[in-house]
Amino acid sequence: MRTQVCVIGAGPAGLTLAHLLHRQGIECVVIEAQSQAHIESRVRAGVLEQPTVDLLTEIGLADRLRREGMLHHGINLRFDGATHRIDFAELTGGQAITVYAQQELVKDLIASLAPPILFEVDSVRVDDTRVSFVHEGVERTVDCDFVAGCDGFHGVSRASIPTGALSAYERVYPCAWLGILARTKPAAEELIYARHPDGFALHSMRGPTVTRQYLQVPPDTSLTDWPDDRIWAALSRRLGEPGLEQGEIFDRGVTALRSFVVEPMRHGSLFLVGDSAHIVPATGAKGLNLAVADAVALSYGLGAHYAGTPDELAKYSARCLRRVWQVQHFSWWMTALLHNLTGTDAFDERLRHAELDRVVAAPSAARNLAENYVGLPFAVGWSWR
Ligand SMILES: Cc1cc2nc3c(=O)[nH]c(=O)nc-3n(C[C@H](O)[C@H](O)[C@H](O)COP(=O)(O)OP(=O)(O)OC[C@H]3O[C@@H](n4cnc5c(N)ncnc54)[C@H](O)[C@@H]3O)c2cc1C
Repeated sequence: MRTQVCVIGAGPAGLTLAHLLHRQGIECVVIEAQSQAHIESRVRAGVLEQPTVDLLTEIGLADRLRREGMLHHGINLRFDGATHRIDFAELTGGQAITVYAQQELVKDLIASLAPPILFEVDSVRVDDTRVSFVHEGVERTVDCDFVAGCDGFHGVSRASIPTGALSAYERVYPCAWLGILARTKPAAEELIYARHPDGFALHSMRGPTVTRQYLQVPPDTSLTDWPDDRIWAALSRRLGEPGLEQGEIFDRGVTALRSFVVEPMRHGSLFLVGDSAHIVPATGAKGLNLAVADAVALSYGLGAHYAGTPDELAKYSARCLRRVWQVQHFSWWMTALLHNLTGTDAFDERLRHAELDRVVAAPSAARNLAENYVGLPFAVGWSWR
């Protein structure tokens, strides 16, 4: 096969990129290791920033998310037994987030995608501008001008870059999140971020009868140590919701909290996009949105390249990294603010309280949280052709 861009990975980064390339008349092929059914049911993120929703609206992919997604104009912070609402609309001039499950967005992106997707590819190898793999038992190759490595943290793209060509920056936090999906009504109309002496908890939702809730747990936590009763008791206590509705837990998992960035996000004709280049702790709800922002920047650079302005593509990595580090900072800050990361250090505890106090009392501090949470503007803005 011969194409202009080979996109490895059909997550939010790869699918958004394929849409944006197609809109500019750039040919691409997407290859994906998993089956379509698997990626359309994989439970992960669920908060879309304002710039992500604006983009999807502009390119005609937001009909279902606008119908079924939940528009939130604020979040609740709970600590010391009190609830404080951070009003995004007031602090950011009317901006909001939309709660819409990642697997639903993936379904929407796949349903309307014109470029081909080859699912269940195996043994993927990247050699400069040639990508080889096995599909339906047959060895195949794609020759292309550029490769977009959108294959997540554990993919082959970053691993195919010679050691020493990239610098990695990493922080692993001494805790993880136990996340559940449950058939219960949300306890509040907007997300609740709770800081508690036992650890962090987050009450989120995926619809009027399904909640997504998280508990801070030790990184080596086994799900067998957390039967339903223990999960519900911990959520009620940490969220300060003694009457928290309990129901069937139909999905559960433990996710590590990690910050990770490689620089640069390019090696020759291979571009790293989304989780293949960076991971953020989930506290700020940024991973999916950052993947979309990278896809926008790369599609812009590739569009300019094929239109005869190659300099724009050379700016891809620096452009993305500026935003990536802003988002890393925000995600790290939210994590440190709301979790117990240093055990029972009383001095540290008081510092965190002082900061939370300031966030809810000083409009400038609340505005900083709100602006980052609803999403920083993309590094490039343009009118979609
Ligand atoms: C387990 C988990 C839970 C998460 N929970 C949350 C959450 O609660 N809140 C939140 O905000 N964020 C969460 N995130 C982060 C968020 O989901 C990611 O940041 C987002 O999916 C990044 O999109 P992406 O397209 O860059 O990568 P991915 O979504 O990981 O997509 C990469 C794609 O590449 C495919 N792939 C991998 N290797 C190959 C290969 N060799 N060849 C071809 N295809 C390949 C994968 O199957 C996948 O479809 C979670 C992430 C994970 C991994």
